[in-house]
Amino acid sequence: MVITIKRNVDEKQFKNLLNWIESVGLKINLSEGENYTVVGLVGDTSLVDINLIRSLDIVDSIVRIQEPYKKANRKFHPENSIIDVGGHKFGGNHFQIIAGPCSVESYEQVLEVAKAIKKAGATILRGGAFKPRTSPYSFQGLGLEGLKMLIEAKKQTGLPIVTELMSEHYLEYFDDVDMIQIGARNMQNFELLKAVGKTKKPVLLKRGLSNTIEEWLMSAEYIMAEGNLEVILCERGIRTFEPYTRNTLDLSAIPILKEKTHLPVIVDPSHASGLSRLVKPLSLASVGAGADGLIIEVHNHPESALSDGAQSLKPEQFEDLVQAVDVMLPIVNKARDK
Ligand code: PEP
Ligand code: MN
Repeated sequence: MVITIKRNVDEKQFKNLLNWIESVGLKINLSEGENYTVVGLVGDTSLVDINLIRSLDIVDSIVRIQEPYKKANRKFHPENSIIDVGGHKFGGNHFQIIAGPCSVESYEQVLEVAKAIKKAGATILRGGAFKPRTSPYSFQGLGLEGLKMLIEAKKQTGLPIVTELMSEHYLEYFDDVDMIQIGARNMQNFELLKAVGKTKKPVLLKRGLSNTIEEWLMSAEYIMAEGNLEVILCERGIRTFEPYTRNTLDLSAIPILKEKTHLPVIVDPSHASGLSRLVKPLSLASVGAGADGLIIEVHNHPESALSDGAQSLKPEQFEDLVQAVDVMLPIVNKARDK
């Protein structure tokens, strides 16, 4: 962190600032120029309130040289993190496809979809039991009953499962869940992040609708700071001015994240576009951009789905997508579990 001090400032105020910097355990690197004095802060500056320092009369400007996230930062962990979800690895040369319905609607529905996506090549089953719907009058998910159906589909097919947790009160029912999803709307629900940070389960952390990449990494940091280092990031589209798609898939987030963090990154082209016909092209673009996996909504009868039918693929469309992804994977030096 570098602070530039204005000219001819009050000596006492300047000394106070230097004393405070040293009192929080940081070293000072002072350089006095003709016009400005530059103070370099050496050490762990993650606890420094940058806005507080900026507000001081004597301060001209302040810049953070180092990112505020530590555990998620690639600088301190150069090699890719490999995260195992029920025997399937994410990160490095591994690539996984997660698929399943938006919501668990009945046991028959989730089982039929589970069998179809497994046959097509998916290795993990998704399905929401607790649904974060924009309207309180929309289908809210089957709750604990839905969770039981999903767990039963796991037992029948052998597929590990990922499902969304909306409140830590339900954590005790997640023992058989292989990966906990934190949805876009809860990306900055810090109490929830701390709660899943105390578990030993992988966490699928979706990007908030209007959050920057740095805010997203700080949310990963919340989970990791509690001791759980198993975080997989999921780009699911952000809100822009474009109304032709439900969200805008931020493809550049993938290579940026690969620079900034060692955590695996997957893409959800279903929520990013809201349109089933865009799911295949966006999936292929994501593979090309370096994603470590995909999460795709698949429904046996999208036309009568209780949520997100318009963006759900039919099993045969999903099969076609997996085959296309397989053609591309060798180009990016990745391989899917078979
Ligand atoms: C979902 O995966 O069904 C979901 C609600 O996603 P998001 O939180 O990204 O909107
Ligand atoms: Mn959905």
